[in-house]
Amino acid sequence: MFRTDNDDVDQHVSTTLPVGEEVARLLRVAHERYRNLDDGAVADYIPALAKVDPKLFGISACSLDGETSDVGDATVPFGIESTSKAFVYALVTNALGHDAVKDKIGVNNTGMPFNSVMAIELHEGSPRNPMVNAGAIATTALMPGASPDEQWTAILAGLSAFAGRQLVMDDDIYESEMRTNQRNLALARLLQSYGRLDNDPQEMVDIYTRQCSLRVTAHDLAVMGATLAGGGVNPVTREKVVSPQVCRDTLAVIATSGMYERSGEWLFEIGIPAKSGVGGGIVAITPGKGAVGTFSPPLDEAGNSVRGQYAIAYLSRAAGLNVFASAARDGLRDHRAPKL
Ligand code: GLU
Repeated sequence: MFRTDNDDVDQHVSTTLPVGEEVARLLRVAHERYRNLDDGAVADYIPALAKVDPKLFGISACSLDGETSDVGDATVPFGIESTSKAFVYALVTNALGHDAVKDKIGVNNTGMPFNSVMAIELHEGSPRNPMVNAGAIATTALMPGASPDEQWTAILAGLSAFAGRQLVMDDDIYESEMRTNQRNLALARLLQSYGRLDNDPQEMVDIYTRQCSLRVTAHDLAVMGATLAGGGVNPVTREKVVSPQVCRDTLAVIATSGMYERSGEWLFEIGIPAKSGVGGGIVAITPGKGAVGTFSPPLDEAGNSVRGQYAIAYLSRAAGLNVFASAARDGLRDHRAPKL
């Protein structure tokens, strides 16, 4: 459950991020509040992830002006994993358009774990959602390209443009995942059996695994997120990566399903569209303001970084990032409930 431990923090409401110095201070406070929290467990179903130091903890924020603040292990690289799904979805929607991707993949929450077979079986083979593994593999397969190599090249270039630097794969994670990838392959073959995957399942799982094995930092996630917060323009490099419409679509999708089957509760308590990954990263994006990236490997049972959730919950309140929060304006008169 999302205990947020934040009742002592005032709900700040604003239309802009606080100025850089204040953001840096809030990041330091968040880091200090939660760095000794040791709930959760490092993902171990992918052997390479089980080796990561559970003490690592970094937080980064990026504004739409490209102003960044880092605290703790914000520049330590880790596997992007499922966080890549949000950005690949954005790239594919940018290439194919809103309706094509919506019709082929769907946008509804499955309510089931990220690697569920049942979710596909219950919906006539529809992957339902681009943030679960089946939908993400199907989304990756839609990336334009004359060959799997070309598709991968386009995905790598697009994700690197989001980050504003050339991303590279972690070969150890990639090989470890490929050795233990039977379930993803089964999901891809199941989609194929329903006529929902036109490409070769093995090749598509290979590209999907590559995208999940990319090394990023919390700082990268903040810049990538801020690109989606600012209409698709990377605020650091000023490169236009995707359209504003694609940003809106992507944020809507991650709002409903970015935090695995805890997404509803996350949105209710914290109020920021976010995507997490089993590598320990979370990116939380407030449109028009900026984004926060966190990295801390121990995860809750759903697969969300525990310290990352707490840190973002704190920043949501303290920096006014909750997209649902508004301040009361002066009322003309008080509402009176009718007398019954
Ligand atoms: N590559 C991982 C998998 O397919 C990603 C899982 C995740 O981060 O949710 O299982």
